[in-house]
Amino acid sequence: MLILREIIGHSQIVKILLSAVANDRVAHAYLFTGPEGVGKATCAMAFTRALLCTSPSAGDACGECRVCRQVEHFNHPDFHRLNPSGASIKIEQIRGIQRQVMFRAYQGGRKVFLIEQAETMTAEAANCLLKTLEEPPADTIFVLLSDRPQALLPTILSRCQHLFFKHIPSRELAAHLSRLYGLQPEEAHQLAALSGGSMAKAIACAGGTFQEERAEAVRLLAALEQAGVTEALELAGEIVTSRKNIVNLLERLTSWYRDLLIWKETGEVALLYNPDLVNKVKVEAGVFEPGRLVEIIEDIEQCNNKIRVNANMRLALEALFLRMSGRNCFETNR
Ligand SMILES: [Zn+2]
Repeated sequence: MLILREIIGHSQIVKILLSAVANDRVAHAYLFTGPEGVGKATCAMAFTRALLCTSPSAGDACGECRVCRQVEHFNHPDFHRLNPSGASIKIEQIRGIQRQVMFRAYQGGRKVFLIEQAETMTAEAANCLLKTLEEPPADTIFVLLSDRPQALLPTILSRCQHLFFKHIPSRELAAHLSRLYGLQPEEAHQLAALSGGSMAKAIACAGGTFQEERAEAVRLLAALEQAGVTEALELAGEIVTSRKNIVNLLERLTSWYRDLLIWKETGEVALLYNPDLVNKVKVEAGVFEPGRLVEIIEDIEQCNNKIRVNANMRLALEALFLRMSGRNCFETNR
């Protein structure tokens, strides 16, 4: 369980939050934005502890009291977490929140409402939440998380104090990974580079799932290069399991094609995201024209965008795989 002071890579935000709690100048609503996996949710949890802890010091939670543990396990009666039910946050869910807002805090202090993936609120849900944000009870604090704040209603944005989370600086991330997993400096730096400043990804890499995901992506590409239309559609069907899986896979594919392009343009191993696979990168890079690599990267990015805005995952993936399959893989499509 992290407290605010232990959060790495976001010192300015931590300072703002600590000062707000210590001086009792907490806003009624915060919006944490920034790329996926940089630590918005971790910071929101630490902030919630700071707001509810019964033995706080200088604006931060103790991290040890009963309340801190209850928040950690999501069973504190004054802490409510909301996330999408299916693809979106529905109006019924926001109405449920509004009922909780009306009650006094069970433990006499504050009530905290954490809304994850806030951009997935339906228009009705967002308008319903807006009413509460316009006249919030004094003891109520909302924390909204979003990696696509542009999809939120401007009226909601204007009611929230906006805190923007950037990618964690590579050096800070590497130092943290070294401490956490006892990695050698070189290994920690490679992981930090691969994860692109995302703590969640770095931890997944360190935990070994990254290597498996990457091997899976490379296998898939080999299969796609040989695939006709039917096989490409079958491959898409096999992969459509969850949004998270697809997003991870698309990231691996992007980083792979990016490496082929970087290798073609510079021939420098140090610039690769996958330096350990340099021999494979060399061979594959020879097969493609640079223009085709740019197209493939753009196609993957487009597919990724569609999936993030909850388009039909299977259709998006099928379209991408058809563009990348068999002969199409090597030839300019446009
Ligand atoms: Zn505590």
